[in-house]
Amino acid sequence: MRGCSLTWSGLQPWALGIRVQITATPSFLFKNQNKIMRVRTKRPEWQQDIAKERIAILFNLAKKDIIKNPERAKRYVELARKIGLRYNVRLGKAKRDFCKNCFTILLPGITSQVRVDKGEIVIKCLKCQKKYRYPYK
Ligand code: ZN
Repeated sequence: MRGCSLTWSGLQPWALGIRVQITATPSFLFKNQNKIMRVRTKRPEWQQDIAKERIAILFNLAKKDIIKNPERAKRYVELARKIGLRYNVRLGKAKRDFCKNCFTILLPGITSQVRVDKGEIVIKCLKCQKKYRYPYK
């Protein structure tokens, strides 16, 4: 039975490196026109710092794995994006590094095509053919 309890402890969320903090984050619930709305509160600085760190790590892993294991790289990008949403962390420059349609990491020449058209940078995802336009600076 000892072995059984060990495997169970391995499945705990905190063992996976995910911080589970429900009591520490103040979330206010109030009723507004019969709808329950949750006010988004700013996460503490230290939580945002950890989130930023994890996002950077996940993007690096995705870039490493894109050739060998594209599905896993996709998963890394999805996780990074979810962390960013949950902890109100902006992705900054990294938001151009992945396809918002299929979550493939965009590496010029490997998974994306970069062209300049009408004074704009056009980044095309080679997996789903979606094009993104950014102003040229
Ligand atoms: Zn795509």
